[in-house]
Amino acid sequence: MKKLTFIAALVCTFLLLCISGFLGFQYQTLNGRFQTLETQASQLKNNNSELKTKLSDSNEKLEDKEAYLESQNEYISELSRQIDSLAEEEESASSDSEEDSSSKEEENDNDPYPNLYAEGFGSQETENEPEKIAYLTFDDGPSSLTPKVLDLLDEYDAKATFFVVCKNNEEYAEYLSEIVKRGHTLALHSYSHNYNQIYASMDAFLSDYEKVYDWVMENTGYIPSLFRFPGGSNNGSSYVVNEIIDELERRGFQYFDWNVSSGDGSNLTTTENIIDNICNNIGNVKHPVVLMHDGSGKDATLAALPTVLKRLSDKGYEFRSLDKNVPSVHYR
Ligand SMILES: [Zn+2]
Repeated sequence: MKKLTFIAALVCTFLLLCISGFLGFQYQTLNGRFQTLETQASQLKNNNSELKTKLSDSNEKLEDKEAYLESQNEYISELSRQIDSLAEEEESASSDSEEDSSSKEEENDNDPYPNLYAEGFGSQETENEPEKIAYLTFDDGPSSLTPKVLDLLDEYDAKATFFVVCKNNEEYAEYLSEIVKRGHTLALHSYSHNYNQIYASMDAFLSDYEKVYDWVMENTGYIPSLFRFPGGSNNGSSYVVNEIIDELERRGFQYFDWNVSSGDGSNLTTTENIIDNICNNIGNVKHPVVLMHDGSGKDATLAALPTVLKRLSDKGYEFRSLDKNVPSVHYR
């Protein structure tokens, strides 16, 4: 009996050893698999975050490219406008020189009272008006460059006009009231500056325009009355732009294009190009409205400004801001 019990105990012990050995083996295998899974999971996690970074990088690049394309577009349309206006000038210059002398003689010959004119007749300028006025305009700000632009303008007691954009410039809203405080004209450009959106319809334009109008009002209490179309009034569909002009003029707003471009719409334009573009062309027009930009990244414009202000004031120019009485500069 004892022997039997001993054998049974032996068998039981053996069986227990087998079972615990088997369980231990299973545990090792499962643990191994678990660790492999854990490694795979962390690898997947890493891959995922890498992909996310890559995705946001390429998104940023895409946005940069889009902005660059837009600025190039604006630049191209400016160039084509310049070519058009040069062609027009040439045409009118050649016809003027042909007719000029004969028509003047004719005018005098036909007037039986050649001296009977009131003072100031034939001149649109008031007595206090300086002979040379330059209207500098800055689009697409405010940005971190704006206070520096304002300081440079102050050095020459120069007044200018700022056509502002809200989207992506919200953090610089404090400069809006600074522009007003220092005696410049604060004018509207766009909320989004996105051509596809704003020129889709008159309503699309007005809803964008209302947003930048509200932004300026909320931050300054100033009611703007001037605006400039993104890309100029000949950008976008003629039909929509004509409708917008009618509607905004009905609401008392007046728009300004420009007749001297600094060329800084393109990021490839250098400081020297900007100085030359302005200083060499400003004498060609009677009321020069000069297009410049003070949006982010326009450091070349900021660098050009001291020389532009110096050279133009040496030439006898006074710098004034636009208002409704300044002869309008329109492309349509
Ligand atoms: Zn613009």
